[in-house]
Amino acid sequence: MNAPSTTPNSQPTPEAEVAGVPGVNGVPGESHFALVLNSGSSSIKFQVLDPLAATATSEPFVSGLVEQIGEPMGRITLKAGGEKYVLEEPIPDHAEGLRLSFDLMDQHGCGPTQVKIQAVGHRVVHGGILFSQPEIITDQIVDMIRDLIPLAPLHNPANIDGIEVARRILPDIPHVAVFDTGFFHSMPPAAALYAVNAEVAMQNGVRRYGFHGTSHEYVSQQVPGLLGLPERAVNQITLHLGNGASAAAIRGGEAVDTTMGMTPLAGLVMGTRSGDIDPGIIFHLYRTAGMSIDDIDELLNRKSGVKGLSGVNDFRELRAMIEDEDQDAWLAYNVYIHQLRKFIGAYMIALGRVNAITFTAGVGENDRFVRADALAGLEAFGIKLDPERNAAPNDGPREISTDDSAVKVFVVPTNEELAIAKYAVELAEKQ
Ligand code: AMP
Repeated sequence: MNAPSTTPNSQPTPEAEVAGVPGVNGVPGESHFALVLNSGSSSIKFQVLDPLAATATSEPFVSGLVEQIGEPMGRITLKAGGEKYVLEEPIPDHAEGLRLSFDLMDQHGCGPTQVKIQAVGHRVVHGGILFSQPEIITDQIVDMIRDLIPLAPLHNPANIDGIEVARRILPDIPHVAVFDTGFFHSMPPAAALYAVNAEVAMQNGVRRYGFHGTSHEYVSQQVPGLLGLPERAVNQITLHLGNGASAAAIRGGEAVDTTMGMTPLAGLVMGTRSGDIDPGIIFHLYRTAGMSIDDIDELLNRKSGVKGLSGVNDFRELRAMIEDEDQDAWLAYNVYIHQLRKFIGAYMIALGRVNAITFTAGVGENDRFVRADALAGLEAFGIKLDPERNAAPNDGPREISTDDSAVKVFVVPTNEELAIAKYAVELAEKQ
């Protein structure tokens, strides 16, 4: 167990005495805390934050992770007030995971009995063609999310578990579903449809939905302000380069194309996912290599991408290996960059005119080599990166192109939890 240990019998701290909580300590009632839940099949990530006070790079008031739900030993990690607390005990299901997390937060003066939570925001992976906007959760909305399970058999059931448990534990607070696919609802048919038999596609929901929508929307909404232009006048490309990676083409605030598809496996090369491949490879591995569909699923989602080519998926390790002249690492990096550049080119043509290209997420925000190589030698297309700006340490939104670059290049930190919290509080206030 990591220090400091939890104190299971400590009394909850009275509201006015909770140290360091804006709106709780000193000015009760002025905070707008949201609880954000991201429920996976055996894990729950959570944050408590005030979306009106937070920035993309500020620490949330509380963050936590419940892991190994349903396994012999589970684990809850809680970070609050600069301290880290770890609880290890069996966690049979999501309900117990959330209940234990709330108890742990209460013991450390930052739980739902001490901090007024105004709304709960739930990340929901697949909204299909049903959802374009965040929604206040009702029984009917839960049923609609359940109807989408065939499109996201691994993700939506876990999201529903989290919603149902949280609604039971916090029944008097508005719960809001924010869909990863929502931002891409506006994509025109030419970008959203695959050239797959129309009847089969229609019957089975086969089309491009796109993911990381909350991040692309959040980041792209900051770009018009950086450019000093109204949103409707801005054409832009956003590059969400994290462990998962996707690019989006956005015209006047509306997404017109994105690299992820019916599932988050498509498009760019990612940490462990292959991105686009010839679909014939799947038949070949099934028929000739004798792999099962589950084996191939595991191969393409977890054992491919940069990791599949180099053995590592963290770009810090990849860079260290490249510096040690590891040929596999160098090759993996080049495959990654090649694919990224192809999509940047494709989206420049799809948009016709581009005001800005923006990097975000773990790799996009931190890896200056990736940013430089993604845009190297594109001066003829009006893209000029400023090497000093690109290399300068900074964790805020910033321009990294030269003053005379026709296409501006930015780094804008993303924060999906903050975006979800904003939606949750906004919708709760409208109720
Ligand atoms: P995300 O999915 O957005 O959390 O991004 C996680 C990934 O970001 C990690 O797997 C790393 O590859 C990458 N990353 C995080 N920090 C750095 C860094 N300082 N330099 C390069 N890559 C980084």
